[in-house]
Amino acid sequence: MTSNQIPRLVPIQMIADESGTLGVVEDIGGEPISFERFYFFASLQPGARRGGHAHKKLRQVFVVFRGSVKIDIKSSTESYSFHLISNDQALVLPAGYWRDLYDFSPDALVGVIASDKFDEADYIRDWDAFVDWDRAQRHTDIPYLDLSRYSSIIGTRVINAISEVVSSGPLIGGPEVERFEAAFAAYCGVSDAVGIGNGLQALTLALRAADIGEGREVILPANTFIATALAVIEAGAKPVLVDVEETTGLIDMTAVEMAINDSTGAIIPVHLYGHPCDMDRLSEIVGTRPILILEDAAQAHGALYKGRRCGALGHAAAFSFYPTKNLGAVGDAGCVTTNDPALAARIRLLGNYGTRRKYEHLEIGTNSRLDPVQAAALNVKLPYLENFNARRVEHADIYLRRLQNLPGLSLPHVHEWARPVWHVFPVRVAADIRQDFLSYLASNGIGTNIHYPTPIHLQPCFSSMGLGQGSFPISEKLSEQLVSLPLDATHTTAEIERVVEVVRTFCLGVRRSESGPLVLTM
Ligand SMILES: *Cc1c(COP(=O)(O)O)cnc(C)c1O
Repeated sequence: MTSNQIPRLVPIQMIADESGTLGVVEDIGGEPISFERFYFFASLQPGARRGGHAHKKLRQVFVVFRGSVKIDIKSSTESYSFHLISNDQALVLPAGYWRDLYDFSPDALVGVIASDKFDEADYIRDWDAFVDWDRAQRHTDIPYLDLSRYSSIIGTRVINAISEVVSSGPLIGGPEVERFEAAFAAYCGVSDAVGIGNGLQALTLALRAADIGEGREVILPANTFIATALAVIEAGAKPVLVDVEETTGLIDMTAVEMAINDSTGAIIPVHLYGHPCDMDRLSEIVGTRPILILEDAAQAHGALYKGRRCGALGHAAAFSFYPTKNLGAVGDAGCVTTNDPALAARIRLLGNYGTRRKYEHLEIGTNSRLDPVQAAALNVKLPYLENFNARRVEHADIYLRRLQNLPGLSLPHVHEWARPVWHVFPVRVAADIRQDFLSYLASNGIGTNIHYPTPIHLQPCFSSMGLGQGSFPISEKLSEQLVSLPLDATHTTAEIERVVEVVRTFCLGVRRSESGPLVLTM
C-alpha cells in the first residue's frame, strides 16, 4: 500500500468578501502529494455511474463545485459511503480503494485532482482482481517459522553468553555444559543428562551404550524423521518399521506388539509432533523382556504424559536441540536423558573417544559432545521453554477450536493422557486436493510444511529394505495428506487467526473450477 491513510472528508473553507468567494482545501495531509493532473465530470446523464475501478498508486482529491454526488469507496475489508455536496467538504482518497460515483445531481460539476499522470497499468478494473490484489497488499506473509524473530526476545542474552564462552573458555566441555546438563535433567525429572553433538548421535550412542548392535532388531515407526532409522543402522542393528495411528501419526502399539520377537533389542517410540506416545501401554507390551525403550523426544521438549515429562518415560531418551526444535541451540546439539547413571556414564564415554583419562581409550568411541557455545545458548533459552510451549498450546487451541468440522479437513487427535507441546501442528486434507490447499495458503502468504512427505521405507536410501508401496498403508496415506500449519511461539494470535480464516475460506468456499484454477464461490 502506498498510503496507510483511509478515505476521509476534509472541510472546504469558504472565504467570502465583496469581490466574491474563495474556497480553500487545506490539510490534505499525510505523505507529500504532488498533483500531476486535474479532471472534472460535468453534463452527466440521469443514472450515470463513473468509477468502477481502483488505482494502485494514484491518490486523488474529489471536490464538488456545483450540485452533489454520492461516492462509495471499498476495499476487501472496509467500505464507506459519502454524499459530497458543493462547497462543503472535499474527499481525500488514498491509493488502493475501489470507487463508484453515482446519483449525480443534474447540475453536478465534480473536480478531481490526481497525484499522477494517466497510467493504464495503475488501474484495476475488475472487482475480483482488485480484491486479490488488496488482500495481498494488506497481509504481510506469515512464515512457517522465522527463527530471526527470537533475536528480539533473547538475541542479546544469547550473544552475550556465547561471547563469554568465546573470550573465557573453555571451548570444549566446562561449566556451561555441566550447568545445562544439570538443568535439563532437573527439568525432565531424571538423574542424568549427557550432552551430545546432535539428536541423531544421541539416539545412536544410547543404542550403542545399551549394546544394541549387530544381530539385534529395533522397532520404530515408518512415519518419522530419517534420523530415527539412521541411528539404528549406525549402531549396527536392524531397523524394523511398523505403521502408525491414523489420527495422531504416532507409532501404533498394536503393530509394535506384533513386531516383537526374540531378536528385538530396542523399541523407539517417537513422540512425534510433540505428542507423547502411550508409554504405559508400551511397558505392558514389553513386560519383563529385556528390551530397551528409547524415547525419541527430539520434538517433545516439555511434553507431558500423564503429568510426567517426555525424556523420563523409558530407559533413556534422545533429544535434539537443532535450532528449529522447541528448545533449539544456535547450531547442532543434542542430549540423552536417563535415570540410569551407568548407562549415562557409558554414553559419555562413547561420545568422548571412549576415554575417561587422556590418551587412554577404553572403548571404540566417537566424537560427539555438547559444545559449550551451544550449551551457553541453551542455558539462556531453557528458562523460556515453558512460556514458549504455553504459547504454542494457545495457538493449537485456536486451531483445534476454529478448524473443527470443516469439510475435507481433519485435525490431529489429542489423547487424554497427553499435554502435547505442538512442535508441529499437522492437519490432514484429502490427497487429491492437498496441492490446491498448499497453493491457496501460499498465495495468501502463508508458509506451510509437510512432516513427512515420504515414509522411511520409501526413501531411496532404504530401497534395499525391499519394502515397497503398500507396506505401511497408514504412513503412506498420511504422507500424501499431511500439511503442517504455522505454529511457533513467535507467531502472533492475529497471525494464527489469519491462518484460520484462510483455511476456513478454502474448506468452505473454494472449489476447483472446470478449467483448473481455484475460484472463490461466495
Ligand atoms: C530432529 C529430529 C531428530 C534428529 O535430530 P538432529 O539433532 O537433527 O540430529 C531425530 N528424530 C526426530 C523425530 C527429529 O525430529
